[in-house]
Amino acid sequence: MSVAKNILDIVHEHIRPEDETKVSSIILKVGELSGIVNESLEFCFSTLVHNTPLNKAKLIIQTIPISAVCNSCNQISQLEYGVFFCEKCHSSDIKLISGNELQIEQIELED
Ligand SMILES: [Zn+2]
Repeated sequence: MSVAKNILDIVHEHIRPEDETKVSSIILKVGELSGIVNESLEFCFSTLVHNTPLNKAKLIIQTIPISAVCNSCNQISQLEYGVFFCEKCHSSDIKLISGNELQIEQIELED
């Protein structure tokens, strides 16, 4: 629930109060490692905006895959959740470059 609340706080910071009824969608980037369950986030969000000026806003969640760069061979690997080694040399000395995201990409207003 706190994640949905944080999203709303950010929307309130960026959108003037008189424009809130025009918000049609909020595009959110969520990394696979962030631990967010899309369905429960959507549910929390719709509960929070119910009967508010933002009740037409849809939450659109873009899932960002986990990827990492290998410190041994510089290969960039796309990783499955829980599997953390280089796909080329199988080193576990890798650095995460995406998958932890939790950010608002865009807030769309209807005309
Ligand atoms: Zn490697």
